[in-house]
Amino acid sequence: MTDTLRHPPAPRPVTGSAVRFEKIRHRFGATTVIDTLDLTIEGGELVALLGPSGCGKSTLLRILAGLQPQTGGTVTIGGEPVDGLSPRQRGVGIVFQNYALFPHMRVLANVAYGLEANGMKRAAAERRAMTMLERVRMDAFATRHPRELSGGQQQRVALARTLAVEPRILLLDEPFAALDKSLRLDMQIEIRRLQRELNITTIMVTHDQEEAMSMADRVAVLHQGRLEQFAAPTDLYDRPATPFVAGFVGTAN
Ligand code: ADP
Ligand code: MG
Repeated sequence: MTDTLRHPPAPRPVTGSAVRFEKIRHRFGATTVIDTLDLTIEGGELVALLGPSGCGKSTLLRILAGLQPQTGGTVTIGGEPVDGLSPRQRGVGIVFQNYALFPHMRVLANVAYGLEANGMKRAAAERRAMTMLERVRMDAFATRHPRELSGGQQQRVALARTLAVEPRILLLDEPFAALDKSLRLDMQIEIRRLQRELNITTIMVTHDQEEAMSMADRVAVLHQGRLEQFAAPTDLYDRPATPFVAGFVGTAN
């Protein structure tokens, strides 16, 4: 393991990192939820983990983040095994469905918080936070509180907060689930634009096949803890590897 991973420098590089799951297994009690899963994600890709509710998508994301130690197998990021490292040490940033902004802090302070926690002086942290808010077009809302914002606006702030600390890998767990349909489409476009601009390796969990197919470079289809197929959206449509994939990507759900 490199010293870089144990003592992450700031700012961290946001390009060129890859993720590798090798023979990942996970059990909760007697129930196997991830079964001998191999998956390699290239630097700069946006990959969707797609599958029905309960198939193990969030568990896999939590394993990658270091929030859930796996029962077996190895996760490597940028070629280094990351077992035992915290999300920050792994250089992983996560946005959940429910945003979890600090309600008592203004938008700017929410975004600056992680930078200050990493040792950045307040003035510098707030300047950088403002730059991130500009990136997600929320700079005009810097002095507001989260409760004054719509769901989509809160989601943008949550994204700015996560990206401010320059993670190597961006993880999104059902990021649009709480948004109504038109807002969801706006946010899909926005996240794809930002992801390309920053060239940040991104892994997004979704049960929505349209969302996965429209946003991702490649889609990993999961079913009952197994990887059914990992391919570009057009390949999933044209050459589904299993009956499950054929059924799932062909269905609006
Ligand atoms: P998904 O995100 O695809 O909906 P999850 O990864 O959340 O699926 O869950 C996969 C399976 O593991 C489900 O059957 C779920 O009930 C179970 N599970 C998830 N978290 C826990 C936990 N902390 N303890 C026990 N079972 C869990
Ligand atoms: Mg989930």
